[in-house]
Amino acid sequence: SSNKETLGFQTEVKQLLKLMIHSLYSNKEIFLRELVSNASDAVDKLRFEAIERSSLLADDPELKISISFDAEKRTLTIADNGIGMSRLEVINHIGTIAKSGTKEFFEKLSGDSQKDSNLIGQFGVGFYSAFIVAEKVTLTTRRAGRPAAEAVRWESLGDGEYTLEDVEKTGRGTEIVLHMREGEDEFLNEWRLSGIIKKYSDHISLPIQLHKPKRDEKGELTGEQEVETVNSASAIWTRNKSEVTEEQYIEFYKHVSHDWEPPLAWSHARVEGRQEYTELLYVPKRAPFDLYDRDHKHGIKLYVRRVFIMDDAEKLLPNYLRFMKGVIDSNDLPLNVSREILQHSKDIDAIRAGCVKKVLGLLEDLAKDESDEGKEKYATFWKEFGTVFKEGIGEDFSNKEKIAKLCRFASTSLDNEDQAVSLDAYIERMKEGQDKIYYVTADSFTAAKNSPHLEIFRKKGVEVLLLSDRVDEWMVSSLTEYAGKKLQSVTKGSLDMDALADEAEKAEQKKAEDDLKDVLVRVKEVLGDKVKDVRVTHRLTDSPACVVVDDQDMSGHLERLLKSVGQ
Ligand code: ADP
Ligand code: MG
Repeated sequence: SSNKETLGFQTEVKQLLKLMIHSLYSNKEIFLRELVSNASDAVDKLRFEAIERSSLLADDPELKISISFDAEKRTLTIADNGIGMSRLEVINHIGTIAKSGTKEFFEKLSGDSQKDSNLIGQFGVGFYSAFIVAEKVTLTTRRAGRPAAEAVRWESLGDGEYTLEDVEKTGRGTEIVLHMREGEDEFLNEWRLSGIIKKYSDHISLPIQLHKPKRDEKGELTGEQEVETVNSASAIWTRNKSEVTEEQYIEFYKHVSHDWEPPLAWSHARVEGRQEYTELLYVPKRAPFDLYDRDHKHGIKLYVRRVFIMDDAEKLLPNYLRFMKGVIDSNDLPLNVSREILQHSKDIDAIRAGCVKKVLGLLEDLAKDESDEGKEKYATFWKEFGTVFKEGIGEDFSNKEKIAKLCRFASTSLDNEDQAVSLDAYIERMKEGQDKIYYVTADSFTAAKNSPHLEIFRKKGVEVLLLSDRVDEWMVSSLTEYAGKKLQSVTKGSLDMDALADEAEKAEQKKAEDDLKDVLVRVKEVLGDKVKDVRVTHRLTDSPACVVVDDQDMSGHLERLLKSVGQ
């Protein structure tokens, strides 16, 4: 028997489909990009498995994607000779969304298709985009290495159900037939198809072959078919920068990142030396919704001499750069390199150090760009990734100073929550006699801004950084100094504000201390063991008193944090 069964889509898939068809209709041609992108991934996976099992390639070694159409039957077919899928893989990959954070994603949907379409972009569109133009999709696939009789056919009208049955298929790989909707005939045309492929898929590193009707010299149809390779079919990162257009860089980004929007910036370089490799790394425009998930996927693909080795190669960049996307292609690593080997490889350490340098360099250039567009880009970068990037101060000792230079903070010099002040800008504004960078940490921006510890600083016009992100406390514990200036919490110890006080003020302070001697003795008696010391302070202007901790002691904020986790 053909073992035919009918299965239902996961609820989320149904929702996604509906949303997608509505919100992407104005840009429906991207369905082809998505299917070609999947075909290319499938061939990458086959190449990888064939490293160990070359027999997988044997009978059909020329890897390619074929696109053909039948204007009369109104079908468009996208076929690849990649890895293919088993029955179980079809069930798990098509009709199910296995991505981490899926549930959270769907909870965020508002029902307002305008807003939701932005979210879809973050999630990636993928296979289901076929239903934008097709009323029925038939996918036939045979896993590499499995016999012809173990192929499987998946078919759906995109209405919530699909069927699966066992079929025969001659070659390995996947063939997708789109039965086009009424009115979508424009895609059953060689010019339109080759135009879309050139526009979105030129960077695909294997040939995309369009099967089209053959014409004679006069342009008349001959009744035969011919095959044309439509794309350049060379991996984009292996080309010279001058040979790659901005559009091609952007389309390649969308392919590797499954993102929808163009990236913010990228770095492309061939590195020679102890390790030879090519990197093409992108800063996205927007943080994915699962950036803070424990199992958030890292976005770097590892290739060795053009052969795809693995996705999410988390060892290739440190954690604080986990938002980066792109490709690293090594000339020296062995093809059989595994995640375990990567863990302890000196070669990988060298590649990682080189890539970190490139990324920091890219961000430095972005930060230096004084044009309106440049400023906006850097602000976007910081807004989306700043809290992750700041982790680098504690994580990457060798680049601490560089990372700190790229950090931006909220500050009393701005009257809003924007994290826009660099340490260099702070230092430039320091008062005569001021030798420290002052900051306050708190649970929220409002709490930081209203801290009574700020009164004296406000009065003297001394700027204070307002730190209220979760990582800030940890960050300042690693960043004790920047450009020779100490970082000092305004809630800790003696303030050495003397240097900033003028002579008259000093006399006044001395007099106040004398006047208050008796009061101090009384207060100490009353508070007893509850405090270490009671002092006259010049740091307050409006509040009568405040609690401070010694330089060596924990800050109140950190103490509260630890208490909240049960320490
Ligand atoms: P994504 O590509 O982001 O994973 P898609 O919706 O595009 O999401 O595809 C879902 C999954 O279906 C892929 O991850 C892959 O496992 C499988 N798949 C899709 N197309 C093919 C194909 N042509 N060959 C093999 N597997 C495929
Ligand atoms: Mg895909």
